[in-house]
Amino acid sequence: MMDHLMGRADPSASPAGSAIAAALQDAEALYLSLVEHIPICMYRVDLKGRLTFGNSAYLKDVGRPLEELLGKTVFDIFPLEEARKYAADDRRVIETGEVFRDIEEHQARGEVIYVEVLKFLVRDHLGRAVGVQGLYWDVSGRKRAEDQARKTMAELERSNKDLEQFAAVASHDMHAPLRRILTACQLLEKHCRTCPESETGELYGFIVSSAKQMQELIEDLLAHSRVGAFNKPLEPIDCNRAARTALANLQLVIREAGAEVRLDRLPTVFGTYMEMVQLFQNLIANAVKYTEKKTPRVELSAELRQSEWLFHVKDEGIGIPADQRQRVFEAFHRLHSESEYPGTGLGLATCKKIVERLDGKIWVEPRPGGGSEFLFTIPNRAPQADPPERAE
Ligand code: ADP
Repeated sequence: MMDHLMGRADPSASPAGSAIAAALQDAEALYLSLVEHIPICMYRVDLKGRLTFGNSAYLKDVGRPLEELLGKTVFDIFPLEEARKYAADDRRVIETGEVFRDIEEHQARGEVIYVEVLKFLVRDHLGRAVGVQGLYWDVSGRKRAEDQARKTMAELERSNKDLEQFAAVASHDMHAPLRRILTACQLLEKHCRTCPESETGELYGFIVSSAKQMQELIEDLLAHSRVGAFNKPLEPIDCNRAARTALANLQLVIREAGAEVRLDRLPTVFGTYMEMVQLFQNLIANAVKYTEKKTPRVELSAELRQSEWLFHVKDEGIGIPADQRQRVFEAFHRLHSESEYPGTGLGLATCKKIVERLDGKIWVEPRPGGGSEFLFTIPNRAPQADPPERAE
């Protein structure tokens, strides 16, 4: 039967033979139409890597007619790096006889796409290896969806971790002032009828300050958890306006500290307005708070560094010990007691969350004459009309 089909006898010589010949013709026509119309690039190379066949999808991808490509190797067809990899993969298929499957980057008509690749050994009717058959097809859409899903998963894991940390620490931190309020109230109740008024006033003061502390903690926790929570789309934000709003919100604190805050001309970046205000506000508030100076001076500026804006917030404050410069960005990590410097330990963690959501980085460095310099980057995605100059 095989000999017959291989052409050693004329299949159409008998009625049965002509039926077989017709069936063979049909099968070949079906094969050809499939190969030519299927949106999968198909090619074949011999053992020396010379092209012996390419279907329409392949020729369209390469952008050259078959006559030009026959006998050529990948080195005549693709960029060198790509060609090296293709040739090595083909060689492995020939040497091992194993099927090759991978998802790889591929340049198609000036664009980088992702393709799924399948390669296997081609044998002749005697079972001898004669070349490699390769198939590849565009999976960019799937790859992008998978990358997005991976990013979302990582974001979910991160926010779950945040939540766990909050649950553990916040419950502890919130209980402390609450317990004090309760104790003070019980004492107040006991003493109210008999003790002098001044003592009662002191207890009232204690209750109020504890309640305030609790309120600040809850407000800071809310601000922290709200960063990126509503999936608000990023838009061009004028940092000059955001920084001025932050200063207005801190008006009282700045006046009480007798601080001078100088704003340089700032750029427009992609972000959300409230988060940019929060970022400037937390950094300026700390610069004004953590100081022993009578007139603390704070400076806010930015400069363009290649593809990103680098912001500086410089103060003349008490500085941060070297071994604490990373840890201060952790939620609830404080270096001082409430009586030394009040706070919740969430300000810098919120700054970090805001900056990282914008694909930036934040860190702190010591200043030569004392004090700290907080630096953060934000990618320069928005079109910039003019570079920042010093505002008068
Ligand atoms: P909070 O100010 O509420 O304690 P932050 O997260 O803003 O929380 O800051 C964490 C810690 O980092 C602070 O407790 C303080 O010790 C230190 N810190 C922050 N900013 C400065 C600064 N500008 N100078 C010196 N120390 C700072």
